[in-house]
Amino acid sequence: MSVIIIGAGLGGLSLAQGLRRAGIPCQVYERDESAEMRKQGYRLHIDDVGDTALREVLPPNSHELFRATAGRALPRTNIYDERMRLVTALEADGVQLNINRFTVRQILLRDQEVRYGKRFTHYEADDGGVTAHFADGTSVRGSLLVGADGVNSPVRQQYLPHAQVVDSGLVQLYGRLPLTPATRKLFDPEMFAVFSMIIAPDRTMVGFAPVDYPEPVADASARLVPDLRLRDHEPYMTCAVGARRETLGRSDVELAATAPADLKKLAFGLIDGWHPRARVLVEHWDAEATFPQPIRTSIPVEPWPPSRVTLLGDAIHAMSPAAGAGANTALRDGAALASALAGAPLLEAVAAYEAAMVDYGFAVVRESAENGRRYLGQNPLTTAG
Ligand SMILES: Cc1cc2nc3c(=O)[nH]c(=O)nc-3n(C[C@H](O)[C@H](O)[C@H](O)COP(=O)(O)OP(=O)(O)OC[C@H]3O[C@@H](n4cnc5c(N)ncnc54)[C@H](O)[C@@H]3O)c2cc1C
Repeated sequence: MSVIIIGAGLGGLSLAQGLRRAGIPCQVYERDESAEMRKQGYRLHIDDVGDTALREVLPPNSHELFRATAGRALPRTNIYDERMRLVTALEADGVQLNINRFTVRQILLRDQEVRYGKRFTHYEADDGGVTAHFADGTSVRGSLLVGADGVNSPVRQQYLPHAQVVDSGLVQLYGRLPLTPATRKLFDPEMFAVFSMIIAPDRTMVGFAPVDYPEPVADASARLVPDLRLRDHEPYMTCAVGARRETLGRSDVELAATAPADLKKLAFGLIDGWHPRARVLVEHWDAEATFPQPIRTSIPVEPWPPSRVTLLGDAIHAMSPAAGAGANTALRDGAALASALAGAPLLEAVAAYEAAMVDYGFAVVRESAENGRRYLGQNPLTTAG
């Protein structure tokens, strides 16, 4: 068996690590020219689902490094109103970790051979195998093609053209605030241990959460995985200002063409009149780190017959970030598919993986959409788009 994985995001790399542990040959093809090329967000919240998947797919020392570079969080989200009065605390269960997204990717990329600059265009499948074609005119043949190619997945568009991804009605402007002795004073002590959201009556939202390292990153790597040089080691607060699209008043094309410093000004304008403490947080953002993120969601579809093509992560169940679950679910998919392929013939393995994934994946899409509707004004799932 040889597995072609399209996309070196969290889900594709989780699968690649799991297959490597199971001794199943695979190759990852990524359209970006390098792992560092694009801003993909800063902090990830990882819960039991993601942590369990990482434990399953990574060598034990790499998993220990992941745990050693992740900050511990209290199991709740605090919601304030725009006058900074605590409205409610949403309780969660189990492991709650805050980690720098690029650190997880670097750990997942270790010992992987990713072919960069390979933009998948289409595939051809027959009884003997599947051939993936790339924009540079090359192609590769394998036994199974896995679309781990994110929310706009070209693999999904060819394989399940009826599976829609739609606008959620929300746009977020993401930023980060470097944590220095001076900026630490802007936050209450509890804000270093939880995800905090300030939400106004029109559902405009400021969210922030820390990435702080329990021990110096270089010491953790030297102790656990000496051959891996982790790039990031400075603590920060990841911050987002989110609003309904009509409140923001800019199209995706306009937002994409807006300079980071102007996006920060736009974010600041959205919280005009809010409590000074809320405004000061956005004022201290690193302007150059700001980027726009339109929020899209998949619409759940019925199961389909298994074949030599399958999907994982955002490629099949993209969701709003309102449950902090997209990355966790993508990591779970990678671990689940690797484990299925290690234990059964190809089509049986794909069938078992898809039966479970369609169930838990779309359950989280629904939960995320409901949280997004309740707290952030996301379009209801049935009428989204
Ligand atoms: C700002 C932000 C914050 C988030 N925070 C959290 C969080 O705290 N917790 C959580 O669980 N989730 C979070 N999410 C969601 C999470 O990031 C996604 O669910 C997760 O990244 C999905 O992983 P994936 O591997 O499926 O897709 P991706 O990470 O999107 O990876 C897809 C990969 O495929 C590549 N690709 C695309 N098209 C092609 C092509 N044609 N050919 C080759 N390669 C291609 C892309 O370049 C990319 O590298 C957040 C999302 C955002 C945007």
